[in-house]
Amino acid sequence: MKTTTEIRSDFLEFFRGKGHTIVPSAPLVPANDPTLLFTNSGMVQFKNVFLGSEKPGYVRASDVQRCLRAGGKHNDLDQVGYTARHHTFFEMLGNWSFGDYFKDDAIVWAWELLTKVWGLAPERLLVTVYQTDDEAFEIWNKKIGVPAERIVRIGDNKGAPFASDNFWQMADTGPCGPCTEIFYDHGDHIAGGPPGSPDEDGDRFIEIWNLVFMQFDRQPDGTLLPLPAPCVDTGMGLERLAAVLQGVHGNYEIDLFRHLIAAAAKYTHTDDLDNKSLRVIADHIRACSFLIVDGVLPSNDGRGYVLRRIIRRALRHGWMLGQKGVFFHKLVPALVEVMGDAYPELTAKRELVEAALAAEEERFAATLDSGMRIFDEIAARSQGVIAGADAFKLYDTYGFPADLTADIARERGLSVDMAGFEVEMEEQRRKAREAGKFGNATSMPAELAAQLAPTEFLGYDRLTDGGLQVVA
Ligand code: ATP
Ligand code: MG
Ligand code: MG
Ligand code: MG
Repeated sequence: MKTTTEIRSDFLEFFRGKGHTIVPSAPLVPANDPTLLFTNSGMVQFKNVFLGSEKPGYVRASDVQRCLRAGGKHNDLDQVGYTARHHTFFEMLGNWSFGDYFKDDAIVWAWELLTKVWGLAPERLLVTVYQTDDEAFEIWNKKIGVPAERIVRIGDNKGAPFASDNFWQMADTGPCGPCTEIFYDHGDHIAGGPPGSPDEDGDRFIEIWNLVFMQFDRQPDGTLLPLPAPCVDTGMGLERLAAVLQGVHGNYEIDLFRHLIAAAAKYTHTDDLDNKSLRVIADHIRACSFLIVDGVLPSNDGRGYVLRRIIRRALRHGWMLGQKGVFFHKLVPALVEVMGDAYPELTAKRELVEAALAAEEERFAATLDSGMRIFDEIAARSQGVIAGADAFKLYDTYGFPADLTADIARERGLSVDMAGFEVEMEEQRRKAREAGKFGNATSMPAELAAQLAPTEFLGYDRLTDGGLQVVA
């Protein structure tokens, strides 16, 4: 069986052999892009290279990029625990051409790696191309020999959360282009249809690799300007690929996650290793730890609030497993065991990560239990919808972020009046402004915050857009 560690190095070795320079993962907090909350794909660190304003000294690169999709244009937080394939934090394997090779080599090498090096059965693979991309269709069909009925033409996403989208963009503006994607068929015993079908959101056909043909720079008014040179940007989810290569269906069944889930089970005293809450906790420990490694601390706004929300979700899942005290930070050593070699910065900051998590856990543990009791009372008298004022009370008095309340509500078949919640929030902000008070961005003890302040990733303080505040 291929371990996740072996898969990482296989990938890099393969592309090194094809003349690619191996580059390290960038941090989760984009170093020079105030338009973006988190690094959500491999291309983020190369944005200026695509735009032509930065010349890296190589035209082919390959990397394993840590990514977070828990806010901004790409947000999978609400999928975690509900699908077999989504994480908040995941690793993206990528290969890049900066004005060098294009569609042909990108497709040929992807196929070679999957079917020759790793030996995947071609008949389990299905590909999609952008609806008008005859060139990509021909390469798959004529050069590779994928039968036409296994090549699906897909258009633009029209906003449906799961609708396939073969025009990739990192954000609303910036480099983008048509893509071709490779899916793995996990078998007809699993519910779900092929991409482009009405039930494509199932977990039978799982998208493993996206090859983007980066050709345009989208302007704020929506127009597409050509990039200085066409580029290739590919991204393959390491965990999804590991599931395929390890012969399991879901990401949470791979070696790396089994290790984290075992630790979560140990510290929450849970016997049932398939319990959904263990999966959520295992997902969230990665996201939270790496956010802290990359300089984010729990706070009430911006990136720090995303971190706080993820931590509190994890703690609520622990609470559901009967864990009333602190437990979450105890998973950090298990995380270091499985990911510390690939990410030495995690090993280096291990104690700080533990301390930051423990501090935040203690804060929330004090109100979680009573908040859950209040939630039950509210739920009992709410008819289908939890009122904005109630969600606000849970937020303001018990520290329940609105999305946490919405997640608990969802489990019980209820929804939350988010617009009503926002009205209450705005009212609170108005009162705070009147009183001349400004929220203190960090909730960490000052000493700890000082220790955690990142030194190597400068430039956070330059972020000024849309109230985005980064604590560092
Ligand atoms: P999906 O349609 O399954 O949500 P996506 O189309 O949003 O995936 P891309 O933006 O194309 O994904 O990212 C490239 C690759 O990264 C995907 O093919 C997949 O292997 C992986 N990936 C994307 N999102 C996640 C996630 N939330 N967790 C784990 N892997 C992911
Ligand atoms: Mg997605
Ligand atoms: Mg997709
Ligand atoms: Mg995709």
